[in-house]
Amino acid sequence: MKKIALIGEIHPDGINILKNNEYEVVNITDFSDENLLKQLKDVDGIGLRTAQLNKQVLSNCNSLKIISRHGVGYDNLDLDFLNKNKIALAITGTANSVSVCEHVMTMFLYLYKIINKSDQLVRVGKFKDKKTLPDFFELYNKNILILGFGRIGKALAKRCLGFESNIYVYDPFVDKKIILENNCKQIDLIEGLEIADLISIHLPLNNLTKNIISKNEFLKMKKNCVVVNTSRGGIINEKDLFWALKNNKIYGAGIDVYETEPPETNNPLFKLDNIVLSPHNAALTLECRKRMSIETCENIINYLENKSNLNVNNIVNKEKINLDI
Ligand code: NAD
Repeated sequence: MKKIALIGEIHPDGINILKNNEYEVVNITDFSDENLLKQLKDVDGIGLRTAQLNKQVLSNCNSLKIISRHGVGYDNLDLDFLNKNKIALAITGTANSVSVCEHVMTMFLYLYKIINKSDQLVRVGKFKDKKTLPDFFELYNKNILILGFGRIGKALAKRCLGFESNIYVYDPFVDKKIILENNCKQIDLIEGLEIADLISIHLPLNNLTKNIISKNEFLKMKKNCVVVNTSRGGIINEKDLFWALKNNKIYGAGIDVYETEPPETNNPLFKLDNIVLSPHNAALTLECRKRMSIETCENIINYLENKSNLNVNNIVNKEKINLDI
């Protein structure tokens, strides 16, 4: 019987698929190295949420063939080690785009229509004082800049086009033809920042993207600009974001991800009323949790049992491990 460790809680729909295929399932909720060293020694596969798997823990996994991330980011494990040891790394590439881009649309609309301030006005009995509210806006005919035109960026563009906005894309790694086919326009970063009314970030966090939006970039933005980050903390410099919001250099921001998670309770961003925050849950709708759980477990089963059923686009290191299907 093959043994699969699920590190972190996932929706039962995926676990049932493993059990129905006669896998032994070990649920791990204690993420200490000591426990992981003990429990992962003889597992064939791992379903991984957000716990860190370092080199020491990984080198102790003597039967490991695949790690399947519940999500699409993989900054919580040592990819070099997996490549060298020919261990597959899978992601749930088709599961979470819709949930994340609906989260972005929610933040765009909430901020651009100052829902929090309107709500507050009614509650304190100032219904008739609506003229005191600042100007608020429509998405119609606005310029929306999308940084990163991968799975989520593309899904967001589709939804923004439904609002009849103009979509600009900054992603030097995507062919201009693909951007045009998606009814969007390619643009370079600086020009994009200058013309955008709303900006949404869908980049991986790496040396090139860390702090890609800092004070200089905020200075290029319009005063009515709204910036939303649901990708990874650290891509926007948080100190500079505070400066931009506090000094009304931009109109507002929506943040799902933080430089440190959880953020400190005294994070100065929490005191501002032109920002809306969420606890890294853009992909955690019930529907999305079910899809991610199922895709996580199907990646494992297909990789171990029947590679012809595998969605190879989900295997991040397919070239490095010489995946042959
Ligand atoms: P993806 O890999 O499909 O797309 C990323 C895109 O970024 C690619 O098209 C790539 O060409 C582009 N890119 C990479 N480096 C770039 C650079 N330096 N400049 C411009 N473009 C660059 O990823 P995705 O599935 O769309 O996810 C995007 C981000 O969202 C990831 O960071 C992921 O971890 C994060 N995410 C967050 C949540 C959440 O719950 N908040 C959920 C899912 C994904």
